[in-house]
Amino acid sequence: MKFVSTRNPRGPAVSFAEALFQGIAPDGGLYHPVEEPDLRALIRSLGEDASFLDCAGAMIQGLFGDDHTAETARELARRAFPFEPRLNRLEPGMRLLELFHGPSCAFKDFGAGFLAAVMEWELQRGGQAIPAERTVILTATSGDTGSAVAQAFQGRQNIDVVILYPSGRVSPLQEKQLTAPSENITALEVKGSFDDCQRMVKEAFADPDLTGRICLTSANSINVGRLIPQSFYYIWAFSQLKDYAGRELVFCVPSGNFGNLTAGLLAWRWGMPVSSFIAATNANDVVPQFLQTGVFTPRPSVQTLANAMDVGNPSNFERMEQLFGSAQAMKGLISARSVSDREIQAVMKDVYEKRGELICPHTATGVLAAREYLQDDPGEDTLVVPLATAHPAKFVEVSREALGVEPPLPERLARLLEQPKRSVIVENTREALARELLKRFG
Ligand SMILES: *Cc1c(COP(=O)(O)O)cnc(C)c1O
Repeated sequence: MKFVSTRNPRGPAVSFAEALFQGIAPDGGLYHPVEEPDLRALIRSLGEDASFLDCAGAMIQGLFGDDHTAETARELARRAFPFEPRLNRLEPGMRLLELFHGPSCAFKDFGAGFLAAVMEWELQRGGQAIPAERTVILTATSGDTGSAVAQAFQGRQNIDVVILYPSGRVSPLQEKQLTAPSENITALEVKGSFDDCQRMVKEAFADPDLTGRICLTSANSINVGRLIPQSFYYIWAFSQLKDYAGRELVFCVPSGNFGNLTAGLLAWRWGMPVSSFIAATNANDVVPQFLQTGVFTPRPSVQTLANAMDVGNPSNFERMEQLFGSAQAMKGLISARSVSDREIQAVMKDVYEKRGELICPHTATGVLAAREYLQDDPGEDTLVVPLATAHPAKFVEVSREALGVEPPLPERLARLLEQPKRSVIVENTREALARELLKRFG
C-alpha cells in the first residue's frame, strides 16, 4: 500500500513505513492511500464467530500483504491490541460500539496501540525507510491523546517517548496516565500552556542541530499508523452484524478532528457494504455546516462538555475531500447533526434513567443523532451503531452535573491513581527542551 499527500495527489508516492515515520507529508499535506484495495471477499469471509484479532489480522494482511504473512499479521495485531471493542444493545434499533476497553479508556487506544506496535515492528525489521535503529517520539498533549500514546508505547523496544504537557492544566487522572513510571517514557511538565508545548515540539523538529543528533519522530493524530487501524473495528462490528447485510446499517460517529469517521469511510471504500454514516459533532459544527451549504469555513473552536471534540478546523477534512471530490458526493453517504451542551446533558440523563447506563458526553452526541435518525426513518429494518468513544468515568464532573451520579472508575484507572507521579519540570523555552533531549539521548 502506497501513500500520497492530500495536497499533491499526483505527486510521488511513499511506502507505509515512510509515511509512518514522516507523519506529515513534506508539503504539509496528510498522507492518503493511493490504491483502493478491494477487500470485499475478505470482509465477506469474516463471520459472527470472528474475534477482533481475527479481523485485525485479516485486515493487516489484506492491506499490507507484501510485508506480512497471515502469521506475522496476526502477531502484529496481538502486539497492538491487548484489548477489544464490544457491542452493546443499548436500545431498540441501536447497538453501541464500545471502544473504551483499552488502557486509557478511550478509542484513541486503537490508533496509538497500532502505531506503537507497527513502529516497533518496522524498527526491528530495518530497511530503507527506517530512520535509525532507535527513535524518540516527541509529542505535546493537552491531556487525552498523550495518555493513550504513553500507555501504548510503554516498554516498546528501540523507542523512547517524550511527552510535553502544561503544568497544572490537565486533570489529575490524565496527569497520572502521563506520568506513571515507565522506563522509556519521559513526561516533561512545562511551566506554560498547551500552545507553549506545541510550539516547543515544532521548534525541536525544526532544529537541525537537534535532529542531526537525535532521531525524532512524531506520534501525531493524523499519522496513517493511527488512522488505518481505526478501520478494523468497523469491519469487526460489521462482521458481528451480518444479519443486517442487505438491510440498512448506519454507523454514527462522534467527531472532532474526523479521524474516526475517515477510518470508517476507508472501510466502506475498501468494500464494507453499509448504507451510510452519521457525523455527530458538538457545537463545533463546521462539517455539518459544510454538508448543508457546500462551503467549508474553519472557525476558532468553542469549549463544550464533549471537549475532546472541540475542534474548529478538523484536519482530516482534507482526506474526506480526497475520498469524495465534492460536497454533493459526500452528502450522498454522510449526514450530520450538531449537538448542544444542553442536549448532551439531557441525553446522558435520559439514557441513565431509561437504560441504567452511563455514557460519556462524546458518546451522547452520537446517541442523540442516532435516535433522531431512527425517528425520521422508523423502518424496522434499520440498525444504527453509535460509536462509544470514551468511558464515562473519564468525565466524572460532567456526569455529576448532568445526573448527580459519579461513574465508578474502572480498575485499570483506579490502580493508576495510586502510582507515584514521575515528571520533570521544565521552562517553556526551546533551550530547555533541547537541553533535556540532549541530556537523555544526545
Ligand atoms: C478524540 C476524541 C473524539 C474525536 O475523534 P476524532 O477522530 O478527532 O473525530 C471523540 N471522543 C473522544 C472521547 C475522543 O477522545
